[in-house]
Amino acid sequence: MICPFCRHDDSRVVDSRPAEDGAQIRRRRECTECGARFTTQETTLLNIVKRSGASEPFSREKVIAGVTKACQGRPVNDDDLALLAMRVEETLRATGQAEIEAQEVGLAILAPLRELDEVAYLRFASVYRSFSSLEDFEGEIALLRAAPSTPASKNSPEKSTTAVTSSAK
Ligand SMILES: [Zn+2]
Repeated sequence: MICPFCRHDDSRVVDSRPAEDGAQIRRRRECTECGARFTTQETTLLNIVKRSGASEPFSREKVIAGVTKACQGRPVNDDDLALLAMRVEETLRATGQAEIEAQEVGLAILAPLRELDEVAYLRFASVYRSFSSLEDFEGEIALLRAAPSTPASKNSPEKSTTAVTSSAK
């Protein structure tokens, strides 16, 4: 491990302890050249297995790239997207698996995206779940209406599941 202070290429471990419920190991290191101490963190590499069988390391950037199109023109900013990608990673890491199918990444995106923006969610879900008819959209919208996702959603004032009965005029 290269020393981040003097760039010397050797350091020794002076302490090592588990963190995040054992999902990480943190190591305290000391540079053998300048004596500076720094901490490194070791986590399991999270690999995404594509349908072709090829795998690649999980990347938050790819998650963001994957939802960006669905979020076009919506009140969603870069911080929202970064947070979403972080939540997706947490969800996937919480499975404790080292390899995750690409399909599951899409699934993990759905819930936080829905909380973020329901229109973006519908767009993403329509592609991800291959909606092929108006009925597919209607079904999904009915689900959204029946179970509003967040208590503090920005752009859906009607929260009541019984709103249908009183919305005639
Ligand atoms: Zn050093």
